[in-house]
Amino acid sequence: MFVTTSSSCCGHWYGFHGVCIGCKSIVHKSQWRAFDYIFNGLQLSHEAVALTKSRTTNNSCLNEKKLHLVLDLDHTLLHMKKVPCLSRAEMYLIQEACSVTREDIWKIRLLGDPIDRLIKLRPFVRDFLKEANEMFTMYVYTKGTRKYAKAVLELIDPNRLYFGDRVITKDESPHQKTLDLVLAEERGVVIVDDRRDIWPHHKSNLIEISKYKYFRVSGQGSNSYSEKKTDESEKDGGLANVLKLLKQVHCRFFMVEEEKLESMDVRSLLKELYIDFDTNQESVE
Ligand SMILES: [Mg+2]
Ligand SMILES: [Zn+2]
Repeated sequence: MFVTTSSSCCGHWYGFHGVCIGCKSIVHKSQWRAFDYIFNGLQLSHEAVALTKSRTTNNSCLNEKKLHLVLDLDHTLLHMKKVPCLSRAEMYLIQEACSVTREDIWKIRLLGDPIDRLIKLRPFVRDFLKEANEMFTMYVYTKGTRKYAKAVLELIDPNRLYFGDRVITKDESPHQKTLDLVLAEERGVVIVDDRRDIWPHHKSNLIEISKYKYFRVSGQGSNSYSEKKTDESEKDGGLANVLKLLKQVHCRFFMVEEEKLESMDVRSLLKELYIDFDTNQESVE
């Protein structure tokens, strides 16, 4: 492996499996960032990433009045449990998952995996996605595998209206989560995740959502929603509350005149709004 500097006019902006698309030289991987989630083998130079991010944010701000939103899956939009781990009191759900009357719980099996899983969608998730999609270009960013994400997306976004190719999984991002992989400027990206620790460098972009636990989790003292045959509130649950906050962020971001949009930053808006949000959430629970 060598780093070529021979073709001085080529900035090696775009690569495919280590080869520059422009000049066909082999470029060391440290000069690029992999974007396999867009298509397998795609690499962008750091300059190309920066330019793409800034153009994307500026264009979507001006043309669509949209910001970017990065959504976690597990405990944020849904709760998943493997069927062999269900408690006795949860067994009735296997039948419900297969019935046509329940549109919020599904039994799935991933390709090449013999274990059945139950996926329970969080109350309000479909409304949340529909409304958030009006204000944001949305990404999924999960610590689950691509196979798992694909199965979940078939349930929540079967026509790929919301996420398109913007799905980042453990396969492409095995360690901590980072906005480096999101093609939009950090000043215009809001993250919704139940885990704060997994975003070491982007906490100021994060709205930490209350953890959605439908099934019994290990070590749980009281009965779970599933065992009590109840659920989180649609109106006052995690997603409904976060949506309120997202609306405020979006509204304040676009309240300024067009020429000032370039200096707007969701991180400072979140800082202002987050304090109220925290107190509201506490009073709900
Ligand atoms: Mg999670
Ligand atoms: Zn090149």
